Amino acid sequence: MAASVTNWAGNISFTAREVLRPAGVEALRKAVVGNDHVRALGSGHSFNRIAEPGAEGVLVALDGLPQVIDVDTERRTVRVGAGVRYAELARQVHASGLALANMASLPHISVAGSVATGTHGSGVRNGPLADAVREVELLTADGEFVTIGRGDPRFPGAVTSLGALGVVVALTLDLEPEYGVEQYTFTELPLEGLDFEAVAGAAYSVSLFTDWRAPGFRQVWVKRRTDQPYAGFPWAAPATEKLHPVPGMPGMNCTEQFGVPGPWHERLPHFKAEFTPSSGDELQSEYLLPREDATAALSALGNIREAVSGVLQTCEVRTVAADGQWLSPAYGRDSVALHFTWVDDTDAVLPVVGEVESALDGFGARPHWGKVFTTGPAVLRTRYPELDRFRALVRDLDPAGKFTNAFVREVLGD
Ligand SMILES: Cc1cc2nc3c(=O)[nH]c(=O)nc-3n(C[C@H](O)[C@H](O)[C@H](O)COP(=O)(O)OP(=O)(O)OC[C@H]3O[C@@H](n4cnc5c(N)ncnc54)[C@H](O)[C@@H]3O)c2cc1C
Repeated sequence: MAASVTNWAGNISFTAREVLRPAGVEALRKAVVGNDHVRALGSGHSFNRIAEPGAEGVLVALDGLPQVIDVDTERRTVRVGAGVRYAELARQVHASGLALANMASLPHISVAGSVATGTHGSGVRNGPLADAVREVELLTADGEFVTIGRGDPRFPGAVTSLGALGVVVALTLDLEPEYGVEQYTFTELPLEGLDFEAVAGAAYSVSLFTDWRAPGFRQVWVKRRTDQPYAGFPWAAPATEKLHPVPGMPGMNCTEQFGVPGPWHERLPHFKAEFTPSSGDELQSEYLLPREDATAALSALGNIREAVSGVLQTCEVRTVAADGQWLSPAYGRDSVALHFTWVDDTDAVLPVVGEVESALDGFGARPHWGKVFTTGPAVLRTRYPELDRFRALVRDLDPAGKFTNAFVREVLGD
């Protein structure tokens, strides 16, 4: 197949010698064994060159593989094949009377690609999506299959691994009994006097949205589990119409609001599986920093809000509980995640990304691996205390660097 593939946003055309779309695991194994440089492509929702193999390499698109989703209702686990997206996974898990603990804002993304980049939803007690992973099945450089489960000393490097260890052919995830969620939306939450801990902890999953045209949040999305207590949200007025996080976009693209109860997978994402998520014409950036610094970091962003609002569609503030993946942006610290949906104009956006990074510098901000950032290797090294252990794991499983690309070399500081 000719090498002309773009990411979902269309801002990246991947450079590759060849693009392959294996129809089975044996064909995938041959592609891995027969090439010196290989990168996997999930659903292509990342905004940077993380998946790019480079001119000498092969991009292996995984959406042609059989859609393996094996739910084990006894053990409350599911084994998910590479290429499977959350939308289909969630439908089948729900049909088995079980649930995932959390979801990102959209169900369109592949599970393996999402956990590889530290993708997350919101919730002060919810870790990133990688938290659900109990076992990783890797196809390594020499064509062997290696299984790394919780308890294996390599496990903390094996889930959020940027695709640098091999091709993940399957993941086994923890499930829990199904639960219901009610979603409530509110408007105009002032920034002044904000009790961030109370607001962020008001329900299972809370998201705040601002356009930074004025200080304060234009929207608040509250996702309340029906099996947990909820004392309401007294800080802002209930919305009177169905909202979309991006101003001007239709609310019908979004999951049900106004407290209509529904199953977990139809409320935890903001966007419905059958519609284009977000705006479609956009770039995104996101930074995770200690949750205790949320108010100070928001105030630092307030100082540059004119620059930010000039190229912004919406900014979302979420929380992510600490996890133990060495390369997770939430590694070892309960975090606040400051997300930016920018306009679709790289030249205009990049200088503002730099300004945001300077404003957040003092907070030890870690960029989302799947989004646009300019943080260099020297700074990344200071932000990831276990980077050396991850580098050693890469060397161990992939000594010739078959799965290492320019992006990974930058991260590793090579
Ligand atoms: C509209 C939109 C909304 C988003 N919302 C959120 C959100 O709510 N929260 C959040 O945290 N992020 C969000 N993201 C970012 C998104 O979750 C990440 O970019 C994620 O990596 C997407 O998964 P993917 O399958 O598309 O990954 P890809 O972009 O395809 O790949 C990402 C990385 O994973 C690797 N990879 C993929 N599959 C495999 C495999 N089987 N084996 C080995 N490596 C693999 C690739 O090589 C690459 O390095 C959003 C993105 C978009 C476009």
